[in-house]
Amino acid sequence: MPTDLIPSPTSATLEATFDVIVVGGGHAGTEAAVSAARSGAKVALITGALEQIGQLSCNPAIGGIAKGTVVREVDALGGIMARATDLASVQFRMLNRGKGPAVWAPRAQCDRGLYRRAVRTLLEAQPNLLTMQGMVARLLFDEGATAGTRRIAGVETAEGRRFGARAVVLTTGTFGRGTMHIGTGTRISGGRAGEAPSVLLGEQLDAVGLTTERFKTGTPPRIDGRSVRYDVTERQDSEIELFDYSWSHFWTTPRRSHHAESTTRHPVQMPCWITWLEESGTEIITDHINESAMYGGAIASRGPRYCPSVEDKVVKFPDKTRHQLFLEPEGHDTTELYVNGLSTSLPAPVQLEILRSVPGLEHVRMTRAGYAIEYDYYPPTQLDASLGSRAIDGLYFAGQVNGTTGYEEAAGQGVIAGINAARCTQAREPLVLGRETSYIGVLVNDLITRGVDEPYRLFTSRSEFRLTVRQDNALSRLAPIADEAGLFTGVERDVMASRLSAVRDALALAERTSMTPEVADPLLVAAGSRPLQHAVRAVELTKRQDISLQSLFDAAGVGADLPRDAVIGAELEIKYAGYFDKERSRAARLTAQGALPLPTSLKYDEIRTISIEARQKLARLRPATLAQASAIPGISPADLQNLMWEVRRQT
Ligand code: FAD
Repeated sequence: MPTDLIPSPTSATLEATFDVIVVGGGHAGTEAAVSAARSGAKVALITGALEQIGQLSCNPAIGGIAKGTVVREVDALGGIMARATDLASVQFRMLNRGKGPAVWAPRAQCDRGLYRRAVRTLLEAQPNLLTMQGMVARLLFDEGATAGTRRIAGVETAEGRRFGARAVVLTTGTFGRGTMHIGTGTRISGGRAGEAPSVLLGEQLDAVGLTTERFKTGTPPRIDGRSVRYDVTERQDSEIELFDYSWSHFWTTPRRSHHAESTTRHPVQMPCWITWLEESGTEIITDHINESAMYGGAIASRGPRYCPSVEDKVVKFPDKTRHQLFLEPEGHDTTELYVNGLSTSLPAPVQLEILRSVPGLEHVRMTRAGYAIEYDYYPPTQLDASLGSRAIDGLYFAGQVNGTTGYEEAAGQGVIAGINAARCTQAREPLVLGRETSYIGVLVNDLITRGVDEPYRLFTSRSEFRLTVRQDNALSRLAPIADEAGLFTGVERDVMASRLSAVRDALALAERTSMTPEVADPLLVAAGSRPLQHAVRAVELTKRQDISLQSLFDAAGVGADLPRDAVIGAELEIKYAGYFDKERSRAARLTAQGALPLPTSLKYDEIRTISIEARQKLARLRPATLAQASAIPGISPADLQNLMWEVRRQT
């Protein structure tokens, strides 16, 4: 192995020493840095360009189905994504609103520049955290470290600056030997348009024996909003109301007013426009399909199935003659629009031709061409449940480098890797979230036990506990864990306690509020529900379909001081109590069983009562608990049962 790829530090050459260094200032890196600092570590975040911290590489939108819940989970664990979104959101929609609050999913469109600035400001407000510019070219290992076990000792940047650290979190996103493709003829080396790739680090990670694979993703062209004929598009206004992504009580700054009837923390809202890629556009794509980087053979690696390129849509759904496109604002300081739905790696002139076939875009000016990018990722089965490398002590991975796609997935991993990197320097046990606690728990567990064969994104269907793991109750699920882990400031601990007691207060108020026929009937009749014969408690009426607890409180003139989120949380607990109880007792059973630790000394190859496949997989993946073992494909219930007996017999 070339020794220059694995240099060791001598303290004389170190410019400074930290507990944790985070490499990369994207969504995983910024959360990892804040979480490590909140955990009490002295942290440095080193990233390619300080101005690009928090850059939304593709669509400037945060949240959506399952992802919106992750944003609130990150917030409940002390992260910054929700707060930055509240400060930068220019268009908001609560998805699934028609289906009832149990499945609501917040999604916010952001001003790209404001989002970046909000993230940077929040990082700089974090004590114990220094942000620095530089491309990390190498990791430093402990002097004397030889093949076998290695221990992280710091990093070296391309400029030759060396920093010591006891733990390093790698969050280099799509930058690992990134190659951008536009058509079959144009290949540009880069981590994102206009930014250099990270090459040396990838070479070193190969040299130390980590397995590397390649994935790809793509982005659509952007256009000049001044060249759009809006009159033939459909306008979609923001639904913004008094929704904060971040628990409003965590905010110590008051809301401000931008229009008369309400107050907000968000910038002035902006509309989106809907138009369609018609048959004439799909024909252009079909005619030029061999010039697409992906279909013309320039890219072999796999892309995200659920964010397909427009080429994918046309090839896979040939009978669909129209595809919806959203023209989304990039921000207040620009007329540029993001063409959501038109991700492509066709040549730039073809992209313009496609755009001009779209109603409203006949004379459009394309400000940037779309492109596809191929990049390194490190199969996450090389990690343990803390997101730490099994091969290199003190090295953690989070975000796109683990084979995921999406800002929210990256942020969720960043929180876990950051907390655990800090804890490893403090000789504390890692923080592992169970699948029943959160989507973040599901995400990490899926990654380390199942691995990925295409870019991984979250869906509600990935969780076995999606009735009780919702966006509205992220704080009650996770804030006690975060508090116990020491992630909150004193002020935050107080507001968390008052926020959690608000749900209990709303439940108690529902129990004791008596609804007379005079007060309740107008509401019930309007909702198509039968009128009352006599007074009934609000808690009973809330069990009826289409009757909200908030409307009962409003009619009875009570609960005005309770936050709306708390009332919604209480309403769901009342309406779906039976389902929730069942799911929670299943979770409790599984947690008790799944928590059984599997000692690292366990010799799987000697356990004859489990299948050969199970022996091999368990020996390779070394799950920390029975729950993690159960998520490994090919491990049968009988294997788990026998494993449990074997562990109990041995310990
Ligand atoms: P990134 O946001 O990529 O951040 C990586 C950070 O690391 C950057 O700040 C970079 O400067 C820094 N860095 C890299 N190497 C080094 C180094 N050696 N030293 C110091 N700093 C370094 N997601 C979707 O969900 N849907 C999509 O359709 C989609 N399309 C995309 C299209 C494109 C072209 C790109 C580039 C990304 C796309 N994404 C998409 C992915 C989305 O951007 C990522 O999931 C998300 O940004 C991942 O966050 P991250 O923190 O892991 O990495």
